[in-house]
Amino acid sequence: MQVHQEKYLHRIWVIILATLAALIGAVGPIALTLHLSLTRATSVEEQRLQYFAQRALERTNMTFRGANAALNKFDYMNVALCSEEHIRQMRMVTVTSRNVDDIGYVENGALKCTAGGLTHKKIKQAPVDFTTQDGISVSLGTTPEVSGGKSMAALYHNSYVALIDSERFTDIILDPTIQLVVQTSNGKLLGALNDPNLARINTMINTPTKRENRAYGGDHLFAVVRDAGLVAVAVEPHSNILGQLQRERMVLLPFGFLMAAFIVGIVIWVLRRRLSPLGELKIAVERREFVVYYQPIVKLSTGLCIGAEALVRWQHPDGSMTRPDLFIPLAEESGLILPITDQVIAAVVRDMKKCLASNSGLHIAINLSAQDIKTGRVLAVLESALRDTGIKPKQIWLEATERGFMDIEAARTTICRARTMGFAVAIDDFGTGYSSLSYLLGFPLDALKIDKSFIDTIGTDSATSSVTPHIIGMAKTLQLDIIAEGIETQEQADYLLAREVEYGQGWLFAKALPAEEFLNFYRRNQASKVEAV
Ligand code: C2E
Ligand code: CA
Ligand code: CA
Repeated sequence: MQVHQEKYLHRIWVIILATLAALIGAVGPIALTLHLSLTRATSVEEQRLQYFAQRALERTNMTFRGANAALNKFDYMNVALCSEEHIRQMRMVTVTSRNVDDIGYVENGALKCTAGGLTHKKIKQAPVDFTTQDGISVSLGTTPEVSGGKSMAALYHNSYVALIDSERFTDIILDPTIQLVVQTSNGKLLGALNDPNLARINTMINTPTKRENRAYGGDHLFAVVRDAGLVAVAVEPHSNILGQLQRERMVLLPFGFLMAAFIVGIVIWVLRRRLSPLGELKIAVERREFVVYYQPIVKLSTGLCIGAEALVRWQHPDGSMTRPDLFIPLAEESGLILPITDQVIAAVVRDMKKCLASNSGLHIAINLSAQDIKTGRVLAVLESALRDTGIKPKQIWLEATERGFMDIEAARTTICRARTMGFAVAIDDFGTGYSSLSYLLGFPLDALKIDKSFIDTIGTDSATSSVTPHIIGMAKTLQLDIIAEGIETQEQADYLLAREVEYGQGWLFAKALPAEEFLNFYRRNQASKVEAV
């Protein structure tokens, strides 16, 4: 009862654990692929932003370089200042240079002439916001005196001033959902595209990590590129990621599902293996969970032990035992009986080697399955197991039931070979099958075991009880050793002895015992024989 309850609890635990494992196995890979798609999509988008920011910085530097080249032209120009030729040259530069919108000549704080012609305006140089790589001072947010137009960047070089429209700094082709800013590293704006939120961008530049930034910038992705005193920032709403995210998911999710299915499949496989009787038996065979008990066989006239039958038990890791009738049929059906027979043989040799080697009159009977007999492979296993053990083949009896004789030719071959090798062969459960005398006469046998069902009827007046003497009679006709199985009462023993049945086995003498207990039983039994003599 206790064992049953433990087994039940064990199964519940296995089911709970397996369900958990299956859940984690199913959800885990899918969650992981979703996370991975998001990380990858974010990274792809951030790289795109990085590219645009980089392009904007390059554009800005190119503009400065172009303006510098344009201004340099005037360093060595040999023309009269503010002459027609001078003004024409200035106009030429503004027309040919993509980067300069206007150019002017300054003398004593007054703008004398520009590409547009002669002027005479006092100008106040705005404070320098930035110095280019070429060493040119730049003032941002200058409103041109002449045109009175929008605010521009003024570049000062010797006596010249070049004006650049801020739009030139960010003159790149950009997705309208991306906002872009180019500014100096101390926060002076050079140019912007697509109407960015400057306050938020400054927060982004000044927050060191993306994680912190998310807390500020919320649902925006951004990239910051810095170079030579300039900073470019590209920003886009997080929702821009969706397209890329979908593409990543299309690629990764199938792997996630596949992985989940694989893990769930493994869990189901393990569960079935653990919970199905056959699965459990397979594991038991792999783990060699079988032990052998020994039930004494005695000479009825003297009570002396002349041998024992090896009876297998399945010992579970928790110590509980399963009787053979509960697993042998499944083992026979599945073919697992072959490795079980091997393990029984190994156990018999291990347990009984010493005792058998020093008591040549003692034998151990081993039960063979139909498959063992049909294939005959058991003989090779026995041969190698007995080698160099001191155990003689005649000390091993092989018990075969009539089920083992289905393939009669194969059975004959195996039994003949077994006897040639020196083993004794007994028919088990005699009387319960279909064997007729003539049928058995064809087989070279050593002993018969009369089935317990006949012994049970002794002393009763059941219908079978009248059959029992005939069964004994038949066995005697065959002139074989006879062993009566399942003797539980003295009356049965006396009855059998009176009909000259030589050997008996049953609870009257002993139950099947663990190896150590059987050896003690045997020693005590031998000692009583000596005393009797
Ligand atoms: P079996 O070969 O006929 O073995 C005799 C069975 O009767 C054993 O049950 C034994 O414990 C039981 N028995 C012996 N004396 C008495 C008795 O006085 N009263 C009662 N009520 N029972 C008694 P066990 O050990 O449960 O084995 C059951 C069957 O399992 C065996 O029947 C045999 O067919 C099979 N078996 C056991 N061990 C092996 C094995 O190693 N290989 C194979 N192939 N089959 C095995
Ligand atoms: Ca048997
Ligand atoms: Ca039997």
